[in-house]
Amino acid sequence: MRFLILSDIHGNIDALDAVMARAPRDSYDRLLVLGDLLGYGANPNEVVDRIFDLQPDVIIRGNHDKVASGVESSDSFNRIAAEAARWTQKAITPENRERVAALPAGPVNVDKDVEVCHGTPFDEDTYVFDEDDAVRALDSAHRKICFFGHTHVPVAYVRQGSDLTVVHPQPGGSDATVVNVLKKNRYLVNPGSVGQPRDTDSRASYASYDSRKQRIEIRRVPYRIDLAQQRISEAGLPESLAFRLGLGR
Ligand code: ZN
Repeated sequence: MRFLILSDIHGNIDALDAVMARAPRDSYDRLLVLGDLLGYGANPNEVVDRIFDLQPDVIIRGNHDKVASGVESSDSFNRIAAEAARWTQKAITPENRERVAALPAGPVNVDKDVEVCHGTPFDEDTYVFDEDDAVRALDSAHRKICFFGHTHVPVAYVRQGSDLTVVHPQPGGSDATVVNVLKKNRYLVNPGSVGQPRDTDSRASYASYDSRKQRIEIRRVPYRIDLAQQRISEAGLPESLAFRLGLGR
C-alpha cells in the first residue's frame, strides 16, 4: 500500500498544485489529509474543492479549519491568524464551510499500522515541538506509525526501546529524506506543511509511505511562491503572510 500524506495546506493552491503534479493519482493508493486546509492563504475554496475532488481515504480537521468554519472561536489565535480566519470566513462558500465544519477530529486509525492526528494522538490542538513532546505523543499513539501536523516543521521521531532518534530533513537539501521503517521501532512523523512551511525551507513539504518497501519519505517540491504571495496581497490579507512564504518560516 502506498500512502500520500498531506498536512497544513492553508489555502495555498499554488503549493497544493505543485505537490499533486509531483504525486499524481497513479503514484499512491491512499490519500491521508491531516487538517488545516484553511487559514493564511488566499484560495480557501480552491483548496477545499481540490482536496474533496481527490476523495481522501482519511481526512481530519485542524485548528484553523475549526475557526474558519465557525466550529470554534479565534480566542486562541494571535492577531494575524485571527485576521486571516475572519477573511477566510467571509471568502468561503456556504457549501465549503459545511464540508469543513463536518470534518472529524483526530486521531483516526487508518489501518493496523498507521494512524493520523493534527496535533497529537491525545489532543488535536497540542503541538509537538521537541523530544519531550514527541515522547508524550508516542506514549499515546495507537499504531506503530503516527503521522501528525500542526507545527509546519517536517521531522521524524523514531523510538527504538527507550532511545529516541530525530530525523530533520536539511533545509534546502535533497528533495527526499528517507526513513526506513523497522519492525521493532515506533514512528512519529510530520510531513511538514504543503502551504506554509516553517523550517526555513520555502518548498512545499509532504510525505509518502510505502508499506511494502517499509519506507517513509519526506518530500519537498518548489512552487510559484510569487503567485501565492501576489494572491495574498491582492486579497488584502496581512502582508506578513505573503512575506513568510518566501522565508519558509
Ligand atoms: Zn497549520
